[in-house]
Amino acid sequence: MASPDETRSDAPPTPEPRPPSVDRLARAIADVDLPHPLLVDAARSAVASGNPATAEQRARNIAGTQARSLLTSVVNATGVLLHTNMGRSPWMNLPGNGSDRYSSLELDLDSGERGSRQDRAPRLLARMCGAESAMVVNNCAAGVLLALAALADGRGVVVSRGELVEIGGGFRIPEVMSQSGADLVEVGTTNRTRLVDYEAAVNGNDVALALSVHRSNYRITGFTESVAACDLTGLGVPVLADLGSGLVDSACQWLDDGPPSWLEGEPAVRQTLEAGVDLVTFSGDKLLGGPQAGIIAGRADLVARCAAHPLARALRPGSLVLGSLQELALAYLSRDGRSIPFWRMAVLPVGELRRRASAISVDLAADTMAVPGGGTLPGVEIPSAGLMIPGDRVAELRAGTPPVIARVHDGSTVIDLRTVHPHDDDVVRAAVNRLT
Ligand SMILES: *Cc1c(COP(=O)(O)O)cnc(C)c1O
Repeated sequence: MASPDETRSDAPPTPEPRPPSVDRLARAIADVDLPHPLLVDAARSAVASGNPATAEQRARNIAGTQARSLLTSVVNATGVLLHTNMGRSPWMNLPGNGSDRYSSLELDLDSGERGSRQDRAPRLLARMCGAESAMVVNNCAAGVLLALAALADGRGVVVSRGELVEIGGGFRIPEVMSQSGADLVEVGTTNRTRLVDYEAAVNGNDVALALSVHRSNYRITGFTESVAACDLTGLGVPVLADLGSGLVDSACQWLDDGPPSWLEGEPAVRQTLEAGVDLVTFSGDKLLGGPQAGIIAGRADLVARCAAHPLARALRPGSLVLGSLQELALAYLSRDGRSIPFWRMAVLPVGELRRRASAISVDLAADTMAVPGGGTLPGVEIPSAGLMIPGDRVAELRAGTPPVIARVHDGSTVIDLRTVHPHDDDVVRAAVNRLT
């Protein structure tokens, strides 16, 4: 069949500028730091989208945007210690980091046989929390899912209606419960739940577990009543406390000056287990100060049931995470809070921050307020210091290399030094100098 073009008999069209070849364009933008196939993709979309005369500039922009959008390290100058958009907690170096060697992830060095990846970091984490046993999964949401599936599949789990929460990123207790195969047994009301409500539910249903969910990221105030996890221990069923934020011990022995006042009221793993709660779940990257992970800790028989469940294989962490958690646990056990980046930043005296701010710019130095963030301790502020620049300059700061992430408050750009490593004060100074 003839195409319409072949049957056309009119005069030849006036020649249009020939589209530049994709290959030539890709070579013309080779200075953009991306592998060749990605430069070809950028060149192809630039050619496809319009004016040939500006194709090279478009290709360069497309490739440049992609290069800049890759995962990279940033300077967190927001004063939000656990910033969800920046991976929550910064994490510690791995043992042997930088070498090309293998890891002993599942190797038993005594016997030369296969060991368990859950033997090292989890054992140290259990020791530091005063738990009989512990295991590590991908994140706290996975920990809750696994514990419910392993301990309550097809049976009831009692939860207060005041704790049927959503944590950021779509983690909703009722939905996790239904995915786990456990049956949600709601007790009490949104604002008031009493022990008798739990007792009635346990007596009237086939209940496998009582679940207590920490109100990490919200508060209920006013006419309220609730039952703490440790007061559920007399119900006759195991108690699981989803602590989320993962403060290890309310005494904070790893800090020279003990617990800071802003931690008051935050439930801690060790004290929760000491009070008789059977199992806890918490995040690795909130107040624990480690990489993304979920820790299940408590009674050895319950942890073993979680570890034996088929989901455990799907939720297991890799050696990067286990290696970092091992270093973190060793730091906690050595009471060495200074080597844990989150805690070092969290308790830095404000005078030290003021001194650093003035050293960067006497004119711009100002007092600020930092926050724990990461869906923990809502409403808590930590006195801090940094720089205040008139106007909204955050996009310019973000465009630098490395990007400096600041925030806007009352029409000024705030650079909070509490979350900035002192090594990066020079980066901040250079970024600020470029603005003026
Ligand atoms: C943060 C949080 C979670 C989810 O933890 P991830 O590690 O982000 O999966 C679950 N439960 C509570 C109470 C939390 O605070």
